[in-house]
Amino acid sequence: SAKIEMCFNNSLMEAITLVRHALSLEKVVIATDLDERMPIIYGDPEKLKQVWINLLSNASDALEGRGGTLLVRSRLFAHEQKVTAWFADDGPGISPDNLGRVFDPFFTTKPVGQGTGLGLSVSFGIIKDHGGSIRVETPAPEGFFDALDDPGNDRPGTVFVIDLPLDHEET
Ligand code: ADP
Ligand code: MG
Repeated sequence: SAKIEMCFNNSLMEAITLVRHALSLEKVVIATDLDERMPIIYGDPEKLKQVWINLLSNASDALEGRGGTLLVRSRLFAHEQKVTAWFADDGPGISPDNLGRVFDPFFTTKPVGQGTGLGLSVSFGIIKDHGGSIRVETPAPEGFFDALDDPGNDRPGTVFVIDLPLDHEET
């Protein structure tokens, strides 16, 4: 794929900008907590944007129109030559039965016609193609939303964690 040097935070912000209006109609508030060091990574901007949009729309779907909070966080880990992004929502979480299957192609809990079950498996492949990793944690770690003005509710929540190397070269 077409990889270039790109600003990690700009990539996250472009995806957020694209979905912000639709999410506000669903009463979802998106908060950001981005590393101000603005790390540069080597990646395919369109592919990565697709991953971020997948994660944002899954989080919005999980909130089921009842509103909630979505938190996007980024951090540079200079010693490890990597950046990490967290996409968190304070929704119902994922049941232990389903947790091991969410990255499987065609796995969906959504009604027929509403989910293809491909979003996370495609996202997994894109992140892997960038030399990175993606995993999910549910419930969200204790205190994950505490930095927000309104830390929200007491639902379990879900956090997708993406690690990307700063210097991954095409293989
Ligand atoms: P789809 O969105 O078409 O169902 P995905 O691969 O994007 O396919 O997601 C697979 C499944 O993972 C979803 O159907 C849902 O059960 C679960 N899932 C993904 N993100 C979340 C989330 N933020 N909260 C709860 N469940 C989630
Ligand atoms: Mg999806």
